[in-house]
Parts: sequence; structure tokens; C-alpha cells
Amino acid sequence: MPQGKPAGVRCVQLGEDERCRIFGHPARPAVCAQLQPAAEMCGSTRTQALHYLARLERLTRP
Ligand code: SF4
Repeated sequence: MPQGKPAGVRCVQLGEDERCRIFGHPARPAVCAQLQPAAEMCGSTRTQALHYLARLERLTRP
């Protein structure tokens, strides 16, 4: 996504299995490679993690 990934838009590199198609590839955006998982971000369920991401997207929406 050369212009960046807008909030609320699914990354084109995210596969149907919810895995990054370019994980470990040098073309993977630096922000993705540098992001470290944290308990606050991941929660204990997928639903909690998605709520956290949705909140981040709301807060960073232009
Ligand atoms: S890690 Fe980055 S490049 Fe990979 S799917 Fe997620 S947002 Fe897209």
C-alpha cells in the first residue's frame, strides 16, 4: 500500500488466514516489523485485540 494503509481499511498483505503474506520480507513496512506485541494490545482473546485495534483506528483517523 504505497500511500499507506488508511484507518478502517484491511491491509492488502493480510491473507484470508489472518496472517501477513510478507512477514519476514524486507518489503514489510518498518512500522509493522518494529511493532512489539504487548498484553494491553493483544488482550486475552481475538475479540479484545480487535477492539483495541478499532480504538486505535478511531483515535488516529484524520
Ligand atoms: S503486518 Fe503490516 S504488512 Fe503485514 S498484514 Fe499487518 S499491516 Fe499488513
